[in-house]
Formats: sequence, C-alpha cells, structure tokens
Amino acid sequence: MKVSRRTILQVTGFCTLAIALMPKMAFAARNSLRTVRTGLQPGNKTRLVIETSQRPSYSLSYPANQLIVTLSNTSANASLAPTLVSGTLVKSITQAQVGDKLQIIANLSKPINEIPKGQIMILSPNGDNDYRLVIDFVAGQPGSVAKTNTQQQKSVSTEKYTIVIDAGHGGKDPGCIGKNGTKEKTVVLAVAKKLKTKLDAAGFKTYLTRSGDTYLKLAQRAEIGEKKRADLFLSLHANANPSRSMKGFSIYTLSEKASDEEAQKLADAENAADKIDVSGFEQFDKDIRVALSALQQHAVAEMSVEYANGCAKQFKSMKITQQPGPDVRHAPFAVLRSTVPGALLELGHLSNATEEKLLTSASHQDKLVNAIVKSVKAYNFDV
Ligand SMILES: [Zn+2]
Repeated sequence: MKVSRRTILQVTGFCTLAIALMPKMAFAARNSLRTVRTGLQPGNKTRLVIETSQRPSYSLSYPANQLIVTLSNTSANASLAPTLVSGTLVKSITQAQVGDKLQIIANLSKPINEIPKGQIMILSPNGDNDYRLVIDFVAGQPGSVAKTNTQQQKSVSTEKYTIVIDAGHGGKDPGCIGKNGTKEKTVVLAVAKKLKTKLDAAGFKTYLTRSGDTYLKLAQRAEIGEKKRADLFLSLHANANPSRSMKGFSIYTLSEKASDEEAQKLADAENAADKIDVSGFEQFDKDIRVALSALQQHAVAEMSVEYANGCAKQFKSMKITQQPGPDVRHAPFAVLRSTVPGALLELGHLSNATEEKLLTSASHQDKLVNAIVKSVKAYNFDV
C-alpha cells in the first residue's frame, strides 16, 4: 500500500475543517473502532475486516510477519476483542495508539507481499454494519515479500506508480480505417508512445503493451498489466461509426453488462480483435486469465470509474470534442478484464473526415496526450 502526499493532504484538510467549524467539538469528528474480525475466503485468502464509525483514512505497512493498518484520527477501543477464525494467516491482533493514529497490528503466521489495491475495499454502512475496511491477502512468495516497515517509510517519497499503456490492435489487425486510409493501430501507437514519454517525464513508471506493429491477444494485454503490477491500465483506441458525421471522444470502463446498446456494440467490435486468426500463434492460455472475486471486481470497478470520470473532465476542459452521451460508459471489454483499474479511451472517430485529419496531426495528438497526463496526475492512486 502506498501512502501519497495527497492522502496526507486530504486528511490534514479534513482535520483543519473540522477544527475550524467546530472549535469545541473537534474530537466529535474523531473516528472510533467498532469491531475487528478475520475470515477465510476462497483461494486460501485471509480477510481482515476493520469496522469504524466513520469512513476510515488508512495506510498499511509490513514489518516482519506483521500487517499494520494505521487509521488516522482514530481512538483505540480497549474493550474490543477481535473475532478471529481459524485457518487464516492472522494469529493475533493488538491495538496501539500512536498520537491521534490507531495501529491495528495483525501478527501473522507467514510473511505477506504488499497488498494490491484491488484487494482492499472500503464498504459503506449497511444494515447492522458501520464503515468497513476490508483487506484480503495471501502468504507471500519467498523472495518477494513486502518491504520492512523502515524500508517502506524510506521509499514512500520516491515510489513510482506504474501505468501500462495499451495501443489497441496492431499487426494483422488494423482496427478501424478512415476514408483516407488512416489505420487505428497506427494512430493509437503514435499517441501511446508520446504518452509514455510524457508520463515518464512526469515521474511515472510506464510500459507499452506493444511498441511496434505487432498483434497481441486482448487477454495478453491485460496480463501485461497484471505482470507489471500496474496501478492503472489505459487502452487507447479510435472509433468508427456508420454515420460519418459522428464525432468525439468517449471513455469506457469494464462492466459485464453494457451501459447502453452502443457501448455493447463497441465492446463487440473491440473484442473481435481476438477472432483474427494469426498462423503460428498459440491459443492464449486460459489459466492466466485472472479470476476476480466479487470484492475485487467491485473495488477495481469503483477505481476505474473514478479515473474515467476524471479523464473525461480533462478532455472536456481542453475542449476536445466529446461524443454525445454520458461522460463514462461501461461494457464488457476483454482487454480491461484484470485486477488493474483502468479505462478504454476512444480518442475520436476515424470515420469522420475532420477527426481523421486531427488524429494524424502532431498538435492534436499532443493535446490528447496532455489531457491524459493531466488525468493520470489528478487520479488518486491510493484508496
Ligand atoms: Zn479499437
């Protein structure tokens, strides 16, 4: 878990506000611990649930054989006995008050890896439950266990977020083709490369799923996001519409059910990239497809939508034409099926003569790249 300056600023901002508005009731805003419990999930996952009276602001650290969840502005609950089920990695749980922060210290039977964001979730109150911070984890692989607490603290300021940039189509799959012969695969690769350069310059760690005119299956692209342990996955595309007058960008996130018929058609068209037969290319191994738990799906979808909304906002603020419709749509895009939050960006319509010209122009490509860079910088990478 990474702790950004942004999270700290948010917490500080909240405290300042609480104190300014309620000078005598500053402590009324303090969070309190309700319950702590563990559970066992499919795949031998340990689930830690921390229930609090208000939405928790937290950070994680991983000293040897421990997981420490630090909750900001929270009081310890001395009378609380954690409910621990057998068979999980958690042997015992203690609390430690450090100033206004509460540490929930889980003593583990085995070391663990740094927990990916997709396995951490804040649930809002429902029925008998208050806010719940839900964390799923498994035993770490030898040699790749999370850094110790000291190393973690040292590395916070220099830690880079990883972005995987996916230029759609490639090789035998040209994607859509404009009236003047502009191929989607060429345009999106040019934008992807520019985006990589700018994001690298801004301090992000980036990878391209393809850097040349090569064909990749959709699941292979998603798998690159997984293998690089990306924090964000961006799939770049350009659109085509039977109506040549249709213009504008559109942004999509993954959902098994499409938000509208048009979104479903687009997903069908983009998913058809996998149906292109390339001789000598082996069927993609089903085993490496990621099985997502309901919790992960929910967390990844929430983060993806948050990014996508921010991205649409940046595109609009830079006066890039938007396709009529909602800011963010959802559809079952195979390339987005992973534990990495992300979005599919249709940068414009190659079927429209004006936009075909724009999409090949360096200045418009730069404008698109600048909007995306802004959206990545504005995205809150921490839950
Ligand atoms: Zn496409």
